[in-house]
Amino acid sequence: MAQIPYKIYLDESELPRAWYNLRADMVNKPAPLLNPGTLKPMQAEELAPVFCEELIRQELDNDTAYFEIPQEILDFYQMYRPSPLVRAYFLEKALGTPAKIYYKFEGNNTSGSHKLNSAIAQAYYAKKQGLAGVTTETGAGQWGTALSMACSYFDLDCKVYMVKVSYEQKPFRREVMRTYGASVTPSPSLTTEIGKKILNEHPGTTGSLGCAISEAVEVATKTPGYRYVLGSVLNQVLLHQSVIGLETEAALKKYDIKPDIIIGCAGGGSNLGGLIAPFMRDKIRGKLDCRIIAVEPKSCPSFTRGTYAYDFCDTGMVCPLAKMYTLGSSFIPSPNHAGGLRYHGMSSILSQLYDDGYLEATSVGQVEVFQAAEQFARVEGILPAPESSHAIRVAIDEAIRCRESGEEKTIVFGLTGTGYFDLVAYEKFHDGKMEDQIPTDAELEASLKNLPRVE
Ligand SMILES: *Cc1c(COP(=O)(O)O)cnc(C)c1O
Repeated sequence: MAQIPYKIYLDESELPRAWYNLRADMVNKPAPLLNPGTLKPMQAEELAPVFCEELIRQELDNDTAYFEIPQEILDFYQMYRPSPLVRAYFLEKALGTPAKIYYKFEGNNTSGSHKLNSAIAQAYYAKKQGLAGVTTETGAGQWGTALSMACSYFDLDCKVYMVKVSYEQKPFRREVMRTYGASVTPSPSLTTEIGKKILNEHPGTTGSLGCAISEAVEVATKTPGYRYVLGSVLNQVLLHQSVIGLETEAALKKYDIKPDIIIGCAGGGSNLGGLIAPFMRDKIRGKLDCRIIAVEPKSCPSFTRGTYAYDFCDTGMVCPLAKMYTLGSSFIPSPNHAGGLRYHGMSSILSQLYDDGYLEATSVGQVEVFQAAEQFARVEGILPAPESSHAIRVAIDEAIRCRESGEEKTIVFGLTGTGYFDLVAYEKFHDGKMEDQIPTDAELEASLKNLPRVE
């Protein structure tokens, strides 16, 4: 067998031309979105005032296995794709493990994460529909940054509602968004009815993701020619992110490599859902025997301590109900440093796969995550995002287990992004000021008590 190179590249002819829809191969399909008023499955017409037409079609389609990627999106993908699949030779050596470790690195673009893969698709369909612009929310800022890049490429207006505390504490991400022409409003704001109401009831609040979603949806539905877009959780986002998994599959095939363990961090589930898509298909068909592990923070443990039930997607309770592993829409995670992993729920697709036993989940603490991040940065050279470092932690733990058992397992993990805007978190870690705030059972029970009643 030829020596496997440090980076496995794909030729342009090997790049995916279609996204893969894992729902087509799922035995039990993910539960449909429900109208919060009637508790009936949401129809396309009901979603049309909020979302773009083509994206609604993708959202509701559980049967079509492949969606052709439009040429305009392929052109954009070529600016930063294929992303490299790296053999972590240096990490293996540092760990002294017989395991073979690979990571798919999605941080090689200005937005610094995988979110651009879906942002460019969503901006394209908005433009194709003849819209003037889109609205969205952003917490830590990765999604807002990706969307502003995508909107700038297609000359669309982009209004970002950024959680106020991040707006004030992360001015650099805000300036990247403005460089790409987006308008960035700290949320809650006086520009919306819901924002005014929240400010009236809670003067001085620093905002939350749920509140920013409610503001962005309000502006989208009240402004002619605008729709709302979302960077994770939804079926359409996992569909677009399948490009990560399809490239990984093609790269591994070149050297006849079969993964034994696939690991990804899980916030709303989009990078993990994308990375595992073709491997999960083979696992469902009985053609691949591999473990697939979702990693979440101990401070926001949707899979490992949540309940599988219908819940609101936002705190303002204006969005449809989704069936998912959830901590309750009123759950506010403690301010951990992995902003992208602080969502109360989880993608319906991954939730169903977890419930059916195809997916494992584990949770890790912040300090152990940053220890892994630092170790990785020192040997592999890349400064990882705190979110991505959750996957690194578990990959290292599995590799150490291989060292102890002597097993030569092949481990593949998703390295979703870079950590240049997360240096305050690294500072806390280096100064020994990082701590884990883990919700108590009583806190989780309290927020789960507010789940909507759905038969
Ligand atoms: C947003 C984000 C995540 C988590 O989102 P998913 O939808 O679960 O993938 C992970 N890593 C990075 C770098 C992110 O920006």
